[in-house]
Amino acid sequence: MNTERLPQENKMPLTWTLKDALASLFVKALSLAIRLSGKGSATSLPGKLVLRWHPQLLNALGKKLPPIRIMMTGTNGKTTTATFLRDIFEANHNACLLNEKGANLVYGITTSLAQAVGWNGAYHAQVAVLETDEATVGKVAPAVIPSDLVVMNLFRDQLDRYGELSTTAAFIEEGIPFTTGTIFLNADDPMLVGMGRNAEKQGLDVFYFGLNVSRDAGEETTTGLAKIVPHPKEVANCPECGQAVLYRSRSFAHLGDWFCEGCGFKRPDLDASITPLNVEANGWHLRLDHLVLGQGILLKSPLLGLYNAYNVLAGASVAGYYHTPVTAIQQALNTHQAMFGRAEKRLIEGKPVQIMLIKNPAGASEVIKTVCNDTQAHILIALNDSYADGEDVSWIWDADFEQLLTTHPNAERYTVSGKRAYDLANRLQHASLNTDWHPQVEASLENALHLALAGVKDGETLYILPTYTALLELPTVH
Ligand SMILES: [Zn+2]
Repeated sequence: MNTERLPQENKMPLTWTLKDALASLFVKALSLAIRLSGKGSATSLPGKLVLRWHPQLLNALGKKLPPIRIMMTGTNGKTTTATFLRDIFEANHNACLLNEKGANLVYGITTSLAQAVGWNGAYHAQVAVLETDEATVGKVAPAVIPSDLVVMNLFRDQLDRYGELSTTAAFIEEGIPFTTGTIFLNADDPMLVGMGRNAEKQGLDVFYFGLNVSRDAGEETTTGLAKIVPHPKEVANCPECGQAVLYRSRSFAHLGDWFCEGCGFKRPDLDASITPLNVEANGWHLRLDHLVLGQGILLKSPLLGLYNAYNVLAGASVAGYYHTPVTAIQQALNTHQAMFGRAEKRLIEGKPVQIMLIKNPAGASEVIKTVCNDTQAHILIALNDSYADGEDVSWIWDADFEQLLTTHPNAERYTVSGKRAYDLANRLQHASLNTDWHPQVEASLENALHLALAGVKDGETLYILPTYTALLELPTVH
């Protein structure tokens, strides 16, 4: 890595007070006590308590972070991408601080930083990657002063929490004035390009990344340069004139090589792009073109699906910008353990299981495509409606279960579970177009898992599609 771009560890903090140190020690001790007691995860509560006593702690912790502070946000893929980016930096022997999985709100980030900071206020890290919830960016950015802000995408997600997409975009934009370096944006998402225009007006550098797909991945037809009119649910609007955009090619949902017939505005030139090439049994070949790293770089990724191609691209965009060599990117891909349920493969009760988190229509529809590629699939879907899942489960009506039921019509292969198992069963029955179609319904996830696994024969795989809190309930996933 270019050392000019990567300053050395900050070992001489100047404004670290005894109160900051004691507050951090409190977080470490309480986290340990919670873990030892076995009463739940210590990712958030210590931060919540300590901020009552020391409201400025996050500020103190943030100012002591190493100069490379990458804040990562967006609806889908931020955990996978943040982890991947950490793996790339570490493959290049750059110690990297990453907040704990899922701890991406103010309390969780405070807890993670306090756990990592030394007694003297120094971190053993040259880079910090902070996965940050979209609605939290504006609250955390003033404390940590990010060097870079990465926005993956904006999908309709948990509407009851965030309201409309424009509200979510506004939350993220609150972080832009505090960013000192570059804003990395997915150019395939028209709303993010609107955000990029605003950032450029504020004098910030914008780095655009996007996918080059030669066909509309949402359809099975070759479209070439023909314009694609998206499904009404997937409409995105031109950031310049507000008219619904059309596409030359589309990866999925509202993401793609878009343009506006009204004013001529279009997807900006890409500073980094990935072109998916052929898929083989042991991985997917991708071509990376990058402003800093060069053109025509071949990568091999174990993570299938266009949503994962975006994750690889975002990680490579940032790492490459900091002159991290391609070998480190490839090494991180080779060793990458898709963490925390995102495309996780494992054996449960001796049978192969693949776990893929679902949480919104676009992400779930992509997961469904992956499941449809396996003709031997058994399917367990678990829908909860806790706060972290989104209390409004109406999104299941926008996910493409029709495709799933068309490919896998056999009801015996389906088990549904979770607090809203019956809503889900109803949704699937609608997708089957057959009122006699009934999946196995078992509200207890533990029982549902046994039931589903009992039907899996040699050579078959069980795909588990849980919402967030259902994922946490699965055995051996923690
Ligand atoms: Zn326009």
